[in-house]
Formats: sequence, structure tokens, C-alpha cells
Amino acid sequence: MIKSGFVTIVGKPNAGKSTLINQIFKKKISIATPKQNTTRNRINAIYNRDDLQISFIDTPGFLNINNKLDEQMIQVIRGAIKEVDIVIFLLDANQNLDVDYLKTIELIEQKTKKYLIINKIDLVSKKELLDQIQLIQQLNLFDEIIPISALKNKNVDVLLNQIEKDLPKETVKYFPDDQQVTYSQEFYASEIIREKILFLLNQEIPHEIFVKVTEFETKTKKIHIRAEIIVARESLKKIVIGRGGSMIKEIGIKARKELEEAFEMPLHLELFVKVRKDWKNKESIIKTFY
Ligand code: GDP
Ligand code: MG
Repeated sequence: MIKSGFVTIVGKPNAGKSTLINQIFKKKISIATPKQNTTRNRINAIYNRDDLQISFIDTPGFLNINNKLDEQMIQVIRGAIKEVDIVIFLLDANQNLDVDYLKTIELIEQKTKKYLIINKIDLVSKKELLDQIQLIQQLNLFDEIIPISALKNKNVDVLLNQIEKDLPKETVKYFPDDQQVTYSQEFYASEIIREKILFLLNQEIPHEIFVKVTEFETKTKKIHIRAEIIVARESLKKIVIGRGGSMIKEIGIKARKELEEAFEMPLHLELFVKVRKDWKNKESIIKTFY
């Protein structure tokens, strides 16, 4: 018997999600497996040991929750976390737990384990940390509360042990041992760009945006990516481009930074915004993209 299952890490930007993943994988993540993922979920990384396989899943739409949880957003989240065994809420120790988290917790199925991980404990005093733990305990919402420092590699092993304990027993692993990621590079890049758009435009736009990577070329020392941002309305195009191109520039900067980190290579990113009326209703169009 082995332990195998799915874990989602959610948290605000800068909470330390990437640092934690990198710490767990000790920089060994390769994003080179050209295998397509048909769902909107993306498997971020797979942790393998002889007797253990943890598949970490990123759930776009869950990461940058804002207070306005509309029906559509709720469906996205529900769909994204349906088959997950554990949801990890990563909280920056310098910040307070807020309603965003509490609201999303209600959407998670009961059988799913919920961890609250307090990260960056190297930056707060013991007293501050204990006070915070006490406050969170009183909420009675989480199965585990684990303080860690992802950067300093403190208690990350405790977290992994707890995950191992809570994962279901399986007879087979879901993925081969040598496989660390399961999506195409193009899909990954498009999801990162989409995530930056949703984050930067926040409440201003609904989820009427589709990103399609049209070129992905790896040269010796640089990756070249060309992507189209498809929107349904002319007015949305204006918003995405921003005044004097300021918004699209910001989207590009943020996406490029994260993609350079992920691919560990300098990267040239070209973004174009296109209007396609009612793309949302035309599944056939979407299907031709991937
Ligand atoms: P993400 O946006 O959630 O992926 O956050 P990142 O992993 O990019 O981390 C955001 C910033 O917090 C980076 O500058 C990290 O170096 C820093 N950081 C992450 N974890 C820790 C930690 O445990 N301690 C300290 N001091 N800094 C951390
Ligand atoms: Mg990150």
C-alpha cells in the first residue's frame, strides 16, 4: 500500500506558495512534460517517494478570491476542489486571517482535510505567533494548524508528515515516478497570464477572459512566448489594455516574472488583446485552443 492523493495550496499573493513548493521540491521541479491537461485545474508538481505520492494542484480562480463571491465563482471553486484530499490555506504570519478564507472554507466538502499553515514564522515573535494560533483555534474551522517557515525550511517536514498521514491509502500511484508535472508548457503559461489578469483587474471584470498561447519557442538562452488575450467585448479590451497601455504592460511584467522563475530562464513575452464576441458560449472555439 502507498499513500497517494491531491493537495491544493491556496493563499494570497506573497503568502509564500511558490517558496513552499520550491522548498518541498528543492528546486527540482521541471516543467518540461509535454502532456496535456484537459481540465482547468493544473497539477503544479508531484512529490514522489517509494511509498508516497503527493500531487499538488493549483486552482486558478481560487487564488485571488475577492469578497464578491458570485455564483459563477462559487461553481469554479467547487469544481476545482471536488477531488482534492487536502486544502492548505497558506497565511503570512504578519497578516490576519480574513473573511476571504473563511468564506471559501464553506465551499469545501467535509471529508476534505483543511490545514491552516502560518508561514514566515521567522518574522514574528513567539508571543505573536501563539496569539494568532489561539485566535485561529477558536474558529474551529481547520483540522490542522501548522506554523512553518518555507524560506528557512522550518517545520516543512512536519507539514509533509501530516499530509502523508491524511492521504488515502491506494494500491497504485496516479502518475509515473519520474513525472513531476502534467500539463503542457503552453497551458501553464496561459494560466499564469490569466491569473495575473484576474488579479490585477480584480472586481472590474468577470471571468470573461481567455488566454491562448500561440507561440512557445525555447532558444538556447531564452524562451519566447506569444499569447492572445481573448475577450468578449470591445469595452473589456479597453480595460485589459488600460490607459496608454499601462494595464497590459503590468500584466506582462507580472506574468513574465513568474514564468521566468518557473522555467528558470529569461523570457520574452508578447501579449495581444483580441475581441471575439460571445466566446464563452462557443465551446467549439475554446476546444480548438488546446
Ligand atoms: P507566493 O506569491 O504566494 O507564491 O509567494 P512567494 O513564494 O513568491 O513569496 C513571497 C515573498 O515572501 C518572497 O520574497 C519570499 O522570499 C518570501 N517568503 C516566503 N516564505 C517565507 C518565509 O518563510 N520567511 C520569510 N522571511 N520570507 C518568506
Ligand atoms: Mg507564487
